[in-house]
Amino acid sequence: MNDTSTLKPGHIQGETGIWEMVIGLEIHAQISSKSKLFSGASASFGSEANRNVSLVDAAMPGMLPVINEFCVEQAVKTGLALNAKINNVSVFDRKNYFYADLPQGYQISQFTKPIVGEGEIIVDLDDGEQTTIGIERLHLEQDAGKSLHDQHPTKSYIDLNRTGVALMEIVSKPDIRSPQEAGAYVKKIRSILRYIGACDGNMEEGSLRADCNVSVRKSGEEFGTRCEIKNLNSIRFIIQAIQSEAERQVDILEEGGTIDQETRLFDTSTGETRSMRSKEDAHDYRYFPDPDLLPLEFTESWVQDIKEKLPELPDSLKKRLVKDFGITSYDASILVEEKDYVDFYQQAANGRDGKLTANWMITELFGALKKDNLSFSESPITSENLGELISLISNGTISGKIAKEVFSEMMKSKKSPSEIVKEKGLEQVSDDSEILKLIDQVISDNQDKVNEYLSGKDKLFGFFVGQVMKLSQGKANPGVVNKLLKEKLK
Ligand code: ADP
Ligand code: MG
Repeated sequence: MNDTSTLKPGHIQGETGIWEMVIGLEIHAQISSKSKLFSGASASFGSEANRNVSLVDAAMPGMLPVINEFCVEQAVKTGLALNAKINNVSVFDRKNYFYADLPQGYQISQFTKPIVGEGEIIVDLDDGEQTTIGIERLHLEQDAGKSLHDQHPTKSYIDLNRTGVALMEIVSKPDIRSPQEAGAYVKKIRSILRYIGACDGNMEEGSLRADCNVSVRKSGEEFGTRCEIKNLNSIRFIIQAIQSEAERQVDILEEGGTIDQETRLFDTSTGETRSMRSKEDAHDYRYFPDPDLLPLEFTESWVQDIKEKLPELPDSLKKRLVKDFGITSYDASILVEEKDYVDFYQQAANGRDGKLTANWMITELFGALKKDNLSFSESPITSENLGELISLISNGTISGKIAKEVFSEMMKSKKSPSEIVKEKGLEQVSDDSEILKLIDQVISDNQDKVNEYLSGKDKLFGFFVGQVMKLSQGKANPGVVNKLLKEKLK
């Protein structure tokens, strides 16, 4: 109906004009801790149902929660990595609601005094641009159990393994303006969490999931009423869900309707959101401080110690890669997404052409892994071998074209590039006399074309280069071929 080709991401063309999105995310990140937030039971994923349940998790009468210091430290570490304010006094509250997978009848969370306050992160967008997104707060809370509805025709079962597992809820400010920005924000948070080891960021296993709050407005207007889409566990779904939810809201508003504040679910099969509960059905959680737990109090020096032990984070590493290796800031932002990528890159590029290495890693290696459905850690090509390939190209042993052939052989056989080059005799030929032999052959085979060329048909030069390369089976050094051909065909 409308020309949408010029619309910016996050903008929707309606009959009455352009609408823009306002988005805020609540990310639930499971802390990489062996034991739960308030009990010693194992927090591991995938165990047999109800194997990892202590008396505290099962909420037996008289059981008392004991705070897991490691988890507290991870939350503080995360707060520091998000450039956020650490609250030296914070309080655990009971969030009361009744549900079968919550044996306590309340979730221990933090409400008015969270462990971490305001912060901000820089988010890298696909076009190489950056934007800053504010963090509202980060708090610690317990996860709930899981109802199993598919085990019995008429009954539901409960698995309490997840009950009491430590979560951090990271709440953004409503600063996000497009689904793509939301995706990039989650990517950046995940990357930071993985660098510092606070959360494994595994979205398939649910270690990281996001609730997305979405509203729309006309430019310059106040924020509209938001809807919250619950529990999205992939970046692709986050982007799809926000886009379709915003479009739904625009349709309603354009028809003169109003948005009801509600909680919605994303249906991955239809790509649309549907209502789960409206604000009227919203729980009154009757928050109050948990009388079983003292407030958390930190000394300045304890927090300082944690700060000093933080590893180098993606933003700083990115700047360093640009400076040390001369690569573009866009390439650097891809390489710093994962600590494993950076380590690999630095080893491969050490003492070599940084740009060439980045190109081969991002385009060829990432592309080949994706094609073969392999994760990065399963790469058949090691950093040493990619580095060696770069050296072989840079010192003229093989041409870029032959390098691709060697590369696919490396993917298949895991052999080193020099081994492959030797075995297959792929060394580039740069020797003048050998190349001159090939040139003479091509000239005598194509006397008519030579005459055309000499009488002014300059375009034929490329044809001769191509013929010589072909005759050499791609091994002739194209630079030398060019030079010698020019002299020969004067
Ligand atoms: P609740 O407990 O009601 O979900 P929170 O404060 O935990 O409230 O989270 C609210 C989230 O909604 C935050 O991420 C915030 O940025 C976002 N948000 C607030 N107002 C709007 C709005 N008008 N449109 C979109 N997102 C919003
Ligand atoms: Mg919320």
